[in-house]
Amino acid sequence: QAKDQGRGCYAYFSEDQTLAARERIALETRLRRAIEQGELRVFYQPQMDIESGRIVGAEALVRWQDPIEELIPPLRFIPIAEETGLILEIGAWVLRETCRQGRLWLDAGLPPLTLAVNVSPQQFRRGDISALVATALNETGFPAEYLELEMTESGLLENQDNVMALLNKLRSQGIRLAIDDFGTGFSSLAYLKHFPLDVLKIDKSFIDDIPNLQDDMEIAATIIAMGHILGFKVLAEGVETPEQLAFLREKKCDSYQGYIKSPPVPAEAFALLLREQGFE
Ligand code: C2E
Ligand code: MG
Ligand code: MG
Ligand code: MG
Repeated sequence: QAKDQGRGCYAYFSEDQTLAARERIALETRLRRAIEQGELRVFYQPQMDIESGRIVGAEALVRWQDPIEELIPPLRFIPIAEETGLILEIGAWVLRETCRQGRLWLDAGLPPLTLAVNVSPQQFRRGDISALVATALNETGFPAEYLELEMTESGLLENQDNVMALLNKLRSQGIRLAIDDFGTGFSSLAYLKHFPLDVLKIDKSFIDDIPNLQDDMEIAATIIAMGHILGFKVLAEGVETPEQLAFLREKKCDSYQGYIKSPPVPAEAFALLLREQGFE
């Protein structure tokens, strides 16, 4: 297309690309350094049982605490980490750090919670997740039954040949498996029923316009109903309003996370949320 517009444009385009490439390399270098310098952090967002409103789990979400810049959100560096393969290192670190923190909370006498860690498609393709999980659990002493891995539909579909064997292997290690951002990919519930999964996470985009968009309400209600038929628990992501929560409760969604309760927060702040709700 650039070619159609003549030589001038072509030159402009490639200069532009060089700039983008240079910025990417710069960010990659900084990111590599950040990993070495220990500038990554894990934040935790509570997940609540919808009936009781009590915190029953947390999603671990990585942050980059750059000493000069502010806290850098994952969407600014995960894509580059994916492209460069740095995601393997980051993913392994987040998994281990989350298990380590989970063990600390147990040792401090806090009630056991499910801790959910995001796994990127790259980790599926190139990393030995199963061995990584085994190592993280062994080295930290975090119990397998409280670890959950979140995978996206595309992450699963891109790796169809061995995905079934891999999921079975992970399941046999005693951990739980969740589908993240459900509804944004191309897989159908009928297809997913063949996978050994525990949780469907309804993507935030279907929650945002409840109760204003009839279509989204029907989609959310359908995902919940069919998820249950297939034997999954269903969690709603990105719940922000009491109206959304009331709707989800009426439709028998199992759990939720979202700003209505709390954004992702550092470990100490998360422990405060837990202490605030008291122990059973
Ligand atoms: P995700 O796994 O779907 O995580 C949910 C995202 O939605 C988080 O953004 C969270 O802060 C945000 N969120 C939760 N509740 C609300 C809400 O009520 N309102 C709004 N506006 N947003 C809400 P975050 O932390 O920026 O993470 C973005 C994405 O980055 C994640 O999406 C995940 O795909 C990726 N990511 C984060 N940490 C990791 C990681 O350790 N490994 C991998 N592979 N990916 C990660
Ligand atoms: Mg997630
Ligand atoms: Mg999600
Ligand atoms: Mg998402």
